Amino acid sequence: METEASQTGTTPRALKGVFAPGPEHWVGDGFFVKTVFWPQLDAHMLSPFLLLDHAARRHFDPSPWRRGVGEHPHRGFETVTFAYEGEVEHRDSAGGGGRIGRGDVQWMTAASGVVHEEKHSQKFSEDGGIFEMVQLWVNLPASKKMSEPRYQPLLDREFPRVNLGPAEARLVAGALHGQTGPAKTHTPITLFDLRFHEDGTTDFTLPAGWTTLVFPLEGDVAAGPAQEVIPPQHFGAFDREDDGAVQIHAKTDARVLVLAGEPLNEPVVAYGPFVMNTREEIVAAFKDYQSGRMGRLL
Ligand code: MN
Repeated sequence: METEASQTGTTPRALKGVFAPGPEHWVGDGFFVKTVFWPQLDAHMLSPFLLLDHAARRHFDPSPWRRGVGEHPHRGFETVTFAYEGEVEHRDSAGGGGRIGRGDVQWMTAASGVVHEEKHSQKFSEDGGIFEMVQLWVNLPASKKMSEPRYQPLLDREFPRVNLGPAEARLVAGALHGQTGPAKTHTPITLFDLRFHEDGTTDFTLPAGWTTLVFPLEGDVAAGPAQEVIPPQHFGAFDREDDGAVQIHAKTDARVLVLAGEPLNEPVVAYGPFVMNTREEIVAAFKDYQSGRMGRLL
């Protein structure tokens, strides 16, 4: 697959649309998020991605208890959590767990099923402070939905930095300009964030045929040949069939998450914490959770 071609003289990849997030709401008592996209919006356009929640920068006072979300199950996909500010702790019934802090990412593969909790860390709860987080749901192909759960803690210092002119990329997964991110993925995915250090335009190539989504966490950002504005917490989807370079224009200090992946082209049936291919598999997931087959937190 050609990913390194010089794009000089070619037309930038077309932007298919810009989409507004849903309203802000609490997830548990620890995460005040906007849901940027969700499976029912357009499962085909988003595939292999399912959902993106962004908890924008927010100050939390010290708390005598750990805020967050208590025990709940997942099956059929992966949750990828980016801690931008503050600390998150995760604990799951498959024995996975850990604390991630500023710049770190945890990649939790629920697959056949886990029960987990997601909380502010003890220290962050005691001290309070600024908190910002993203959680992305990545779908699994039908052949992997009932595989073993997996937990990957990925630290900020492990992410290769890729110089993209006015911006620097932190590469979490997949290939970008000859470098490779540390996350193991079940299908081909390239995932990175960009931080602009000056006003300017950056461009990079991603495989044609892949879904490519850009999400500005903050800052003035525009994309595509018409320099269409993508306001903060909105997202832009590029034309999958266009093989031009992805072009992003931004002002200093803008931060942008870039998600790219090969679409699965399988039916998506998403219900609450489960994402399967058929309604019958969702019913089975509820039964398996209720009968304890996804394990319990000790
Ligand atoms: Mn969860």
